[in-house]
Amino acid sequence: MSDIIRLLPDHVANQIAAGEVVQRPASVVKELLENAIDARASQVKLIVKDAGKTLIQVIDDGIGMSDTDARLCFERHATSKINTADDLFRINTKGFRGEALASIAAVAQVELKSRTENSETGTSIKIEGSNVLSQEVTVTPKGTSILVKNLFFNIPARRNFLKSNQVEIRHIIDEFQRVALAHPEIAFTFLNNGSEVFQLPGSNLRQRIVNLFGAKTNEKLVPVSEETPVVTISGFIQKPEFAKKSRNEQFFFANNRFIKSGYLHHAVMNAFEGLLKEGMQPGYFIYLELNPATIDVNIHPTKTEIKFEDEHTIYALLRSAVKHSLGQFNITPVLDFERDNNLETPYAYKDKTPVFPQIEVDKDFNPFKENNFSKASRKPFKKEVTASWEGLYAGLKDEKIKTTAPDFIWEIEVESEEVSGEIDFSESEIVENREVFQLHNKYLVVPHKEGLMLINQNLAHQRILYEEILKNITVTRGSSQQLLLPLELDFNPDEIMILSEVKEQLEYSGFGFLEFGKEKITIEGIPVFMETFDIKAMLQQLIIAIRSEVPDSAFSQNDVLAKSLSETGAVKNGTSMAKEQQQYLVRKLFVCKDPAVSPQGKKIFSIISLNEIEYKFSN
Ligand code: ADP
Ligand code: MG
Repeated sequence: MSDIIRLLPDHVANQIAAGEVVQRPASVVKELLENAIDARASQVKLIVKDAGKTLIQVIDDGIGMSDTDARLCFERHATSKINTADDLFRINTKGFRGEALASIAAVAQVELKSRTENSETGTSIKIEGSNVLSQEVTVTPKGTSILVKNLFFNIPARRNFLKSNQVEIRHIIDEFQRVALAHPEIAFTFLNNGSEVFQLPGSNLRQRIVNLFGAKTNEKLVPVSEETPVVTISGFIQKPEFAKKSRNEQFFFANNRFIKSGYLHHAVMNAFEGLLKEGMQPGYFIYLELNPATIDVNIHPTKTEIKFEDEHTIYALLRSAVKHSLGQFNITPVLDFERDNNLETPYAYKDKTPVFPQIEVDKDFNPFKENNFSKASRKPFKKEVTASWEGLYAGLKDEKIKTTAPDFIWEIEVESEEVSGEIDFSESEIVENREVFQLHNKYLVVPHKEGLMLINQNLAHQRILYEEILKNITVTRGSSQQLLLPLELDFNPDEIMILSEVKEQLEYSGFGFLEFGKEKITIEGIPVFMETFDIKAMLQQLIIAIRSEVPDSAFSQNDVLAKSLSETGAVKNGTSMAKEQQQYLVRKLFVCKDPAVSPQGKKIFSIISLNEIEYKFSN
């Protein structure tokens, strides 16, 4: 048999390597930003168009490249950062593999301009799909500009694999934030489709965090600092009362490189033990300085996972440093409700299932037994639900309602505007007079032609709202209840970006925005269906949902939005409802397209057949 082994041509090898290094536009952003930092830039500008799919440009004022280096940097394993394998153990640059530019040039059209301080003229190189198209002398400022156009232009399969612009830009923002946090002393600008997303002057860490996450962050930060021979720990944690349900303000850096570590996260969570409500996540920005020889950054191609020589010690030191900070700043488990309205969302969002441990269904409940009756009517945590329910009924005009229940954080006065039309009574298997009976503030019991129907009130309302919201977004605009006082809510810039993606849909579902700023939105109207007035929590939950569901098309985004709003907007289990509300819910449920399952796929009702009932009396 003849020999069959061949060496792959460089451009093929580069494309294969690119598969590892360049997964999406955000990977290019990361590599280019890191190169700029390694080149000791003090100002870095990132420009992207179409979420980086058509253009990514990074301009720095760093050391630049000579003519030869400018050509060489696109070769595989071309790096100025290590010479020998031993250097791997003293790495203090971001890059060292010499693969990034070769990989990027293999799968995109790249234009590089660069000039060193000592050279009068610079070099301009055009390269696409690993082919150098031109190299010229050019006039350019000191430093380097790399422009990456039409990523994956030569690999349609990978280009098609890219997600929607919203998803890709989110990945880019993540990478940008990580790099910007690792280097607060460097000034960064970030433009997306011509508009400025971030403008970060070189500053200290606290200022950088505030510039990235909003002015409100300042008061949340508590410094952490611990110096030991093994590791130096610095940075900030956020006070426990500002914990959120999302994990997007949790950052670890090792020698100024962003890292992911479930193990270290556990150490921090351990230190916070007893200070957080179930499912809440503290924010942290923690920096570890270690001897580079004691960490291995080489184990993962994108280098976010690293190995520590002495993991256990670092775990213990980190935990005690965080504990120390929490103690030193007198942070006690007392939750201050005045300060953050997010905290008191009356149910856990974690698994997206409303859980009410207080409610137990008494299986032996006998409505005809006197004692039981009084037990059943003792409402575990009765709240007054008035506003939105009344809003649902036609004919209310200018009625001012003040909610007083303790878990309605906002004391808002609402004024109902136009209210949607009459309720459709049409089909239903439910017997005509619609006797409804509420069981344990959780189930609605309804006579049914085959027996008895049990309806979960929360899931039923979710289904009703879900269909209503979807209809509002896609067909008819929903009604709005005007707030007497506009409500100002602060968000982080990246949260605002997510909300602005769905601003139109929110408006269609009944939200009215007076102002949609960079860190603040002002709300003047809310959908009539809203059962909760904790609007901030509702929007926070929506942000989490959009972030985690990674919607790819307009349709699925509407679906995510409708699911999230219906979940937060629905009447909770444990809420006592007036007779008319119960009847309304039942009627409305059975005009839904899909009354049997909740938007999250849970069973809404169950029928106990006459046979089953008769069986119970059979002996
Ligand atoms: P690595 O960063 O792993 O060395 P890259 O492919 O990212 O590999 O870059 C190759 C080389 O090109 C770098 O080692 C560096 O010498 C040079 N280089 C890349 N980007 C820049 C830049 N923005 N400024 C100066 N030199 C750069
Ligand atoms: Mg690099």
